[in-house]
Amino acid sequence: MKLSGHTLFNNAAIEIDLRDDSVASIRELTATDSNIQIAPAPIDIQVNGFAGFDLNTETVTPDDVCAMVRALWRVGTGFLCPTIVTGSFDRIFNSLSAIADACKMDPLVNYAILGIHLEGPYISAEDGPRGAHPLAHVRDPDWDEFQQWQDITEGKISIVTLAPEKKGAIPFIEKLVSDGIVVALGHTNASADDIQAAIDAGAKLSTHLGNGAHALIRRHPNYIWEQLGADELWASLIVDGHHLPPSVAKSMIRAKTLDRCILVSDAVALAGMKPGIYEFAERSVELTEDRCVRLVGTEYLAGSAIELARGIENSVRFAGISLKESVSLATLQPMRLLNAEPHVEAKTNFILFEWDAAHHKIDLIATIVGDELVYHTETKK
Ligand SMILES: [Zn+2]
Repeated sequence: MKLSGHTLFNNAAIEIDLRDDSVASIRELTATDSNIQIAPAPIDIQVNGFAGFDLNTETVTPDDVCAMVRALWRVGTGFLCPTIVTGSFDRIFNSLSAIADACKMDPLVNYAILGIHLEGPYISAEDGPRGAHPLAHVRDPDWDEFQQWQDITEGKISIVTLAPEKKGAIPFIEKLVSDGIVVALGHTNASADDIQAAIDAGAKLSTHLGNGAHALIRRHPNYIWEQLGADELWASLIVDGHHLPPSVAKSMIRAKTLDRCILVSDAVALAGMKPGIYEFAERSVELTEDRCVRLVGTEYLAGSAIELARGIENSVRFAGISLKESVSLATLQPMRLLNAEPHVEAKTNFILFEWDAAHHKIDLIATIVGDELVYHTETKK
């Protein structure tokens, strides 16, 4: 099979020659009349589940992890950081073991998993900042506990989201940073001093800035402005139209600049499923017609139900940035954050799609990960 199109980042006409669904060669053409766009395969650094597979259960298996990663390839997410949220020691341990075993079972899944994101349990216990994380399992940072989790993954935990105001958080951040782990602030009720201390200790990211926050908040100062104004911190953003109103997404992208923003899906297992009430993360949640996931009876969001590609589309629409800029927020930016260039760029990784500029819509045609064609719209592979 031969696939041709124009590369999004430098507008070169190229042809990809695939043999047995594996990239045999790529050559530059003088021209092509194909209107297919070819972009790097997106990287989602916050994925809790997808297509019915939930990473955060007692029973998740390595097969589930592999099936989830393959389901993500079919919607154009090439790479990911599977995300493990607040829970008991054993539940977190089981989820991490399943991911580590999936990586041992399937070399391509191993290649696609750029690291594991541990979001919690060292977060705020307050309603609002805690979001949908279960209160019973929120706790202070514990290095020995963390080491047991890191050991079972053989060092794959590469992002830790925590609240810097927790007891012992600042020395904990210093240790994580010295181990090369990206420290992210999130689900936090931090003061300006807490945030500055975390930055001084090496924290680099704000996780889903503007979410995991109180429903009502003092206008200023507050922990959102403090993080938004800190040039040392990058921000991950859930641009699904629910977690951040369009004007907020636009303002945050402008304030942080394209150099410090990353798009994430924060998808939960309900992504890809029908609207309804579900039991999820030990709580009842509602998935609405317009793809919004809320804790039943509250206004608190409990993860998102979108694919990363929708965040790319929405960022073009909400923030007035170009498609190329928006794609960079889901490809080059997370690659830079994780220092993953040598790993990612060692192989061919693309998505091929048509861009419907009038409707800001990506129509995915194919996904190539690690030199392999892992999805094609015609073969439904
Ligand atoms: Zn969160």
